[in-house]
Amino acid sequence: MSVLMGQMMERPLLISSIIDYAAAVYGDIPIVSRDAAGLTHRYSYRDASVRIARLAHALTGMGVKPGDRIATVAWNGYRHFELYYAISGIGAVCHTVNPRLFRDQLVHIFNHAEDRLIFVDPSLLPLVEGLAPDLSSVESVIVMSDAADMPESALGNILCYEKLLEGQPESIDWPSLDERAAAALCYTSGTTANPKGALYSHRSTVLHALGSVVGQDGWLRPGQVFMPVVPMFHVCAWGYPYACPLSGTAMVMPGPRLDGASLHDLIEGEGVTLSAGVPTLWYGLMEHLRKTGGTLTKLKALVCGGAAPSLALIQEIESHGVEFLHGWGLTETSPIVTTCLNSTLPENLTPEERQRYKLKQGRPLYGIDVKLAGEGGKTVPHDGESAGEILLRGNTVISGYYRDAEASEASFDEDGWFRTGDIGTLNAAGTLQLTDRAKDLIKSGGEWISSIDLESAVLGHPGVAAAAAIAIPHPKWDERPLLVVVPVEGQDVDKGSILDYLRGAVASFWVPDDIAFVDEMPLTATGKISKRQLRQRFEGYKLPTA
Ligand code: ADP
Repeated sequence: MSVLMGQMMERPLLISSIIDYAAAVYGDIPIVSRDAAGLTHRYSYRDASVRIARLAHALTGMGVKPGDRIATVAWNGYRHFELYYAISGIGAVCHTVNPRLFRDQLVHIFNHAEDRLIFVDPSLLPLVEGLAPDLSSVESVIVMSDAADMPESALGNILCYEKLLEGQPESIDWPSLDERAAAALCYTSGTTANPKGALYSHRSTVLHALGSVVGQDGWLRPGQVFMPVVPMFHVCAWGYPYACPLSGTAMVMPGPRLDGASLHDLIEGEGVTLSAGVPTLWYGLMEHLRKTGGTLTKLKALVCGGAAPSLALIQEIESHGVEFLHGWGLTETSPIVTTCLNSTLPENLTPEERQRYKLKQGRPLYGIDVKLAGEGGKTVPHDGESAGEILLRGNTVISGYYRDAEASEASFDEDGWFRTGDIGTLNAAGTLQLTDRAKDLIKSGGEWISSIDLESAVLGHPGVAAAAAIAIPHPKWDERPLLVVVPVEGQDVDKGSILDYLRGAVASFWVPDDIAFVDEMPLTATGKISKRQLRQRFEGYKLPTA
C-alpha cells in the first residue's frame, strides 16, 4: 500500500540544537555553580554556549573522533555541563562515571567503555590516580580547573581544562550527525552483578527532554530556578541539564555539598523554586529544617524519585508549602518514565488522600507504553490491585545493553518489551504504583508482602528515621519480614511500640516477625538503601517465630 508522504523538512534531533536554541532564545538565563570550596560561579546560557564551542574545538584538536567514549568524573557544576554538550555535540560519547562505585566496578566500567580521556574534578583526582595503573585505554586525564589551581599529581599525562580552552574559536558549526548516533553512556550501579551500560542516542535524549518538560506540569519554564541535586554522574541528572536550557529554566548546580544545611542555604540564597533528588536527600533537608526551625520561602516544588518516598516525607515537605512531585524511572529509561503531579490527581480527594495518592509513581510520559506481566508472561489486569512485573516500550528505553549480549538477552520479553524488574499495579487511569523490586520481594505463605508499603507505613512512627524490610527464610511460611530500623537520634524507641503502631496500619500478616536496630543504613552508590548489603549482614538471622 502506498501512502501519501508529508511535505515537511526533517532535521535531526541533536543535543547541540538544545544549547544553540538556549543561547539564541534564553541567552541571559543564568547557571549558578557552587564548587567544593564553597565559591560561586555565575554565567548565562549564552556564555556557556561560547565555552562549549571552545571546548568542542579543543576536543577535536586532541583527536577526539565521533563514537569515542570520553569519561567524566565530576559533581554538578558548569564545567560538567559544558562537557555534556561539547562531547556529544562533536559526535563523541559523554560517559559519566559515578565516583561512589567500588574500585573494581570503576575499573570494569572504564575498561569496558574503553574511555580515551577522563575529565575529573580536582577533588576527585586522587580517585582517578588510584585507578590509573589498571586502566587500559585512557590516554590523558584532564583536571577541571584553571591553571592557578591545578593540583599536584604523579600522573604523567595530565592536562588543565582551562588551558585547553585558551585561544579556541568562540563559535562552532556543529556536525549534522545521525540523530540515532550515541551521545551519552551511563552504567547502572550494579546492585546484583557488574554494572551494565545504557547508551543514549541524540534522539532519545532530545525526546526525553521534551517529554519531561511536558510531563512536569509546566514547572520547567522561564522564571523558574531549578537545582539538580540528583548527580550529573548518574543518568544525566535525570535529563535536567537538557530539559532546563530547552525550556528556559535557570539552573543552580550544588557541587559536592549535599547535606541539609548546604542545600537549604543554596535554595534560599539563590531563590531555587524547584529541585530534584532521591528521598535520602530530602530526609536530610527536612531534618535540618526541624533542627534549626528553618523555612523554605522560595521553593515551590520538589521532585522525588529513585526510591520510594514515605507518606511522612510527603506530608513534611508539603507542610512547608512545597508541592511534592513524584517520579519513577531507571538508568535504562533515560530515566523518567512516570510522574505523579497535583494536576493528575483524581478530584474530590481530601488533603490527606491527595498526599497518600502521591505515593503512587504516576502516569507515563508521552511515548512510553507500560504493561504488567504475571508469572509465565501472563497479562495482569489494570485494576489497581493486581501486581505484575512492569514492562516498557518507547523511544527513551534501551534496546539492549552496551556490549553485553548476556544481560541484553535476559532483559526483554519475546515482543521486545524491556523488563524493568520492578513490580507494581496499574489502575484504570493509567497510574502506576510500585510495590517492590522483583529481587526484594517477600513471599509469606504464598502471599506477597510489599516491602515498599511496609517501610512507608513504619516511617510514620515518630521514633523511626529510616527503615527497610527484608525477607528472612522461615520453616513454616517460607519467608517472613525482618524490619531493620534506624531510630531517630536521641530517641529511645522499643520494638513493642513499633509493632503496635504497625498493627493498626498494615494487614496483620505483614507485621514483621522481628525488628533489628542499626545505627545507619548501608547505601548504594546512588544514595539508596542497599538491601543486598542488609541481606548479607542478616544472613542466618534467627527470627523469634522460627
Ligand atoms: P540503581 O538503583 O540500581 O542504581 P537506577 O538508578 O536505575 O538503578 O534505579 C532504578 C530503580 O530505582 C527502579 O528500578 C526502582 O526499583 C527504583 N525506583 C526509582 N524510582 C522510584 C520510585 N519513585 N519509587 C520506588 N522505587 C523507585
